[in-house]
Amino acid sequence: MRTKWRFALLAACALWLAAAPAQAQSQAPDLGPHFRTVKEGVHVYASTPIQSNCTIILTSDGVVLIDSGHNPPDSRAVMAAIRKLTALPVRLLINTEPHADHTSGHFVFSPPAVVVAAAGAGDSMRRAHNPRRWEPQLASAPSAEAMRKALEGYRQITPHVEYRDRMTLSVGERTFELHWLKNVHSEADTAIWMPKERILFTAASVSVNRFNNLRPFVSIADTLAAIKMMRALNPEIVIAGHGPPGTVKILDDMERYYILLLERVRRLAEQGKSLDEIKAELKMPEYDHWVGKDRYPNNIEAAYREVKGR
Ligand SMILES: [Zn+2]
Repeated sequence: MRTKWRFALLAACALWLAAAPAQAQSQAPDLGPHFRTVKEGVHVYASTPIQSNCTIILTSDGVVLIDSGHNPPDSRAVMAAIRKLTALPVRLLINTEPHADHTSGHFVFSPPAVVVAAAGAGDSMRRAHNPRRWEPQLASAPSAEAMRKALEGYRQITPHVEYRDRMTLSVGERTFELHWLKNVHSEADTAIWMPKERILFTAASVSVNRFNNLRPFVSIADTLAAIKMMRALNPEIVIAGHGPPGTVKILDDMERYYILLLERVRRLAEQGKSLDEIKAELKMPEYDHWVGKDRYPNNIEAAYREVKGR
């Protein structure tokens, strides 16, 4: 009996080995740490859960990239992964926002990639450009050597194409619908919708278990409108600007937080409390597990602007 089982096991192994080469051909190669394949040909990279996401999308006509990595070493890791996946060029690089933690690695891919962003992205990038941004890392071992190598050939690449409101791009068999998002994070935020794959890139309009940095021009009402618009697309996979890929729950969680924040700030404002008093008193214990608590005061300021109609 035991011999019979052993034989059956050996036979199964032989069958598996015979099938293995064909199977290996259809499997994606090992891209290295921090890559996540969310659908066939769609690979998301972030070296830590709070660093910006960079997504590689393969098409029959070349690669489309969503953002270019948190910093140049990340961009190099993404380029190395692309070379394992395909010999085709990076055709398009779509920006979700102009900030340096999404755009400083553009030079690794462009040329030949054509960079596309919402109107105002180029001006924002030029205003904020700081070539000394990496000096702290260049000064400290052990990151210095990796950073120095990654920065070889560095120059700022601003968008070649800026669109207003909406734009549809097609590369190979894939379609990308770009939606400008107003007042959600930067001067030029873009949500990207892939209708066939039902993948949504939200830009930094939402975060994953993290408070967003609400600058003075950011509006919670506009953010809630953006969340509603994005949810109506009925996405299966949701990829925020930062944080692990997930589902529509990412949109739901952020929406619930803002609604609760507005409710509580409104109640205290109606009691005649000043902004400083509200900042001192307001508690959101439901979100103790979220990171980015240093942004909590600017979240309260944004909610206060909203309830005061400013
Ligand atoms: Zn940003």
